Amino acid sequence: MSCLFCRIAAGEIPSQTVLADEHVVAFRDIRPQAPSHVLVIPRRHVDSLWELDDRELAGRLLAAAAEVARAEKLEQGFRLIANAREHGGQEVGHLHLHVLGGRPLGRMLSKP
Ligand code: 5GP
Ligand code: ZN
Repeated sequence: MSCLFCRIAAGEIPSQTVLADEHVVAFRDIRPQAPSHVLVIPRRHVDSLWELDDRELAGRLLAAAAEVARAEKLEQGFRLIANAREHGGQEVGHLHLHVLGGRPLGRMLSKP
């Protein structure tokens, strides 16, 4: 298994898990861009949001992101980002949602 996030989901590479169930895993970003920076991924490999065609899984990911925000106590607000493919600035080729919060995030349109 060569995909970094597949290995994290399988527990082969350690990460700080925030939430995990049968379908999704959420863990802390190794280079946090905000006081709270968590990545939400599907357990099964999907390259990016471009390839995601499973609405049930899409719903699970979105619901998990909301759960992460509540677990992280981001009641003042947070941001969800999905970088997809080259122009989107995606660096890890396994679909992930960034949940960012804990500080005002400004009005940036691109990467956190
Ligand atoms: P992308 O640019 O693909 O949207 O975001 C990839 C994210 O994965 C980056 O924010 C980066 O810091 C994070 N990341 C890369 N490698 C690792 C790792 O080994 N462990 C964790 N926890 N995060 C990682
Ligand atoms: Zn993967």
